[in-house]
Amino acid sequence: MRWRCRITGIVQGVGFRPTLYRYAVEAGVTGFVGNDAEGVIVEIEGEEAALRRLIERLREAPPPLARIDAIAIETIPLKGESAFTIAASSHDTAKQAAVSPDVSLCEACLKEMRDPENRRYRYPFINCTDCGPRYTIVRTVPYDRPNTSMAKFTMCEACEAEYHDPMDRRYHAQPIACFDCGTQLSLMDSEGRALEGDAIEEAAKLLVEGKIVAVKGLGGFHLMCDATSEEAVARLRERKGRPDKPFAVMVKDMRTARRLARVQEREAALLQSKERPIVLLKKSGTTELAEGVAPGIDRIGLMLPYTPLHYLLFDHIARPLVATSANLSDEPIIKESGALIEKLGHVADAVLDHDRDILNACDDSVAQVVGDRVQWIRVARGVAPMTLPIASQEAILAVGAQQKNTIALSLQDAVILSPHVGDLGSLEAMAFFEETVATFGRLYDFRPQRVVCDLHPGYDTTRWALALAKKEGLKSTAVQHHHAHALAVMAEHGVHEEILAFVWDGTGYGEDGTVWGGEVLLCDAAGYRRVGHLRPFRLLGGERAVREPRRSALALLYEIFVEAVEELSLPTLDAFTPAEKGLLFQAWRKGMGSPLTTSMGRLFDAMASLLGIVHRVSYEGQSGMMLETLAAQEKAAQWLDGFALQESETGWVCDWEPVVRAIVGGKVGSPARFFIESLAEMVARLAARYPDRRIALCGGVFLNRTLMEACLRRLPAERLLLPERLPPGDGAIALGQLWYALHEKD
Ligand code: ZN
Ligand code: ZN
Ligand code: FE
Repeated sequence: MRWRCRITGIVQGVGFRPTLYRYAVEAGVTGFVGNDAEGVIVEIEGEEAALRRLIERLREAPPPLARIDAIAIETIPLKGESAFTIAASSHDTAKQAAVSPDVSLCEACLKEMRDPENRRYRYPFINCTDCGPRYTIVRTVPYDRPNTSMAKFTMCEACEAEYHDPMDRRYHAQPIACFDCGTQLSLMDSEGRALEGDAIEEAAKLLVEGKIVAVKGLGGFHLMCDATSEEAVARLRERKGRPDKPFAVMVKDMRTARRLARVQEREAALLQSKERPIVLLKKSGTTELAEGVAPGIDRIGLMLPYTPLHYLLFDHIARPLVATSANLSDEPIIKESGALIEKLGHVADAVLDHDRDILNACDDSVAQVVGDRVQWIRVARGVAPMTLPIASQEAILAVGAQQKNTIALSLQDAVILSPHVGDLGSLEAMAFFEETVATFGRLYDFRPQRVVCDLHPGYDTTRWALALAKKEGLKSTAVQHHHAHALAVMAEHGVHEEILAFVWDGTGYGEDGTVWGGEVLLCDAAGYRRVGHLRPFRLLGGERAVREPRRSALALLYEIFVEAVEELSLPTLDAFTPAEKGLLFQAWRKGMGSPLTTSMGRLFDAMASLLGIVHRVSYEGQSGMMLETLAAQEKAAQWLDGFALQESETGWVCDWEPVVRAIVGGKVGSPARFFIESLAEMVARLAARYPDRRIALCGGVFLNRTLMEACLRRLPAERLLLPERLPPGDGAIALGQLWYALHEKD
């Protein structure tokens, strides 16, 4: 009997062919295995039982990095070869093969790198079929060396032998290299002049001296400095113009991680996973880290080394290192040393570079553990491109939102989500967005028949999508932002029935012209009904309110007390001059340049200002994290009934007035807790009114751990529908948009 099997999923560049070869040889069957642009093709010939066992074994023990989505088997005429062989890649079919994300250094390679007898002893670019770069070095598919940035390196004899030996663990490891034939390191100063000495040793020396070194990683450069040095961290902040936003820290090992943070079991597993994300942890209280690394908050983002170069660097410097993406604010991560020197020459004192080009830039992924669940905050290096098993008849491109942008495309049998593109707004960010669209078009031979975007007319992505649709004559669809948030969760879980979704975020364009962000929707893929929202208040000065929590706080006070605000004594009021207050009162009364909003993000801002924690912020989510930090220090809330629910023609109005009055009146001992627990209580009460609906919690506000834990305590687990592989924030919008378009009736 002879079978032809087509295997799809993540099956290329993950050691699939050699594994199959070994299994086939051991099973005593003949035939061949090959890659084509749609995945893996296997033909096997032998006793039916042997063929069946072979496929079973493959399903049970696929190569560690592979993910099999489907095996389609057909019986074909016998060919009677004498052996099993590995065929070269063919290039002629449509491109549907999933490109694997990059993978952190594996145990076997680490061991070799530490072995003085091994020919790759201390080689900073050691890798194998189970580890190393993937997405970041691929130009097009199939994933074969000539289609990667390794094309320019000619393999030496020893590497070539390993590359062609099906029994070797580097069989067809595309980035295979060694001292003799592969990527080399170099160290230079901030003007690009080569520096003397061993590059790694010298870089480590500079770091110990408090210098800032740009280090080329998998998806781009990090700016690194000694995380225990207050001066080094302050210098980095000053030069980068980044006053407060927390820096991620790379630590040598788990022991260091446990010293700097309280690491629970689930968090330890996440830190050590092959994805190696930055994990947000609770600070341990040690004074080892400079306060400037994550000022004013009780969280710290840690990650473990994930490239051989990182490990070698830590051989020379044991202390924790700030490892922040090298970019100018609002611009994408820099992937090439020329651009680094041009843009960040004034920030970095030295550059640790290498000559393996990064073709596709990719930031670090970020995650946290809430309760017992992993919550992704940013999906990028190690995790994306992400494949979701969602079929589609139509080639649809979803362009995502304006912030934390990602894009998504629908192929015949899968939806592909790009890594984090970032916040748009700058020319460079928009160029990176367009580059990402082009890259994915190339990697999946994808030409959209339809394009989906946000309903917000001011988003760059919306304008881009509409222009594309016009130019190419494509159909275009716009999806309301908060509906898309909810749909993303439904898409992840393949849920079709109507659900109750709490969608809380910073801002989104509402269909009534106001700025939404504290919404409760009853929705399915066809549409939504807004059944609840936060009581509206004014965004004093529009967008400026986003940077200044004091403005949201003042708006709430005006709503409740009007002119009598002046009789109160509050930190918020002290944060303004009398003239400012005069102007803002007029703006509030007349609504001038101050649209109404129902944004939960702004309500968090307002609370932070009312409590005197922060009146101006320099990064998104700052007020929420600072509130959490305060809440963690407070005793349990004494009074939870903080929100009033009122029925109106626009649904349940969630009124913040009782909370604000209680806080302003000094009636609660643990105000931050009181506010957050009251919110969760409100969620539970609304959820109880729709007992037969599943409950989604999404939008960036649900990254607030304290809020999430408070909600999880109150809601029935079997009704909960939470983001699993995707972030709750705008990084998931593209998937929600796609889900909408997939179900749209013409
Ligand atoms: Zn390896
Ligand atoms: Zn070599
Ligand atoms: Fe959003």
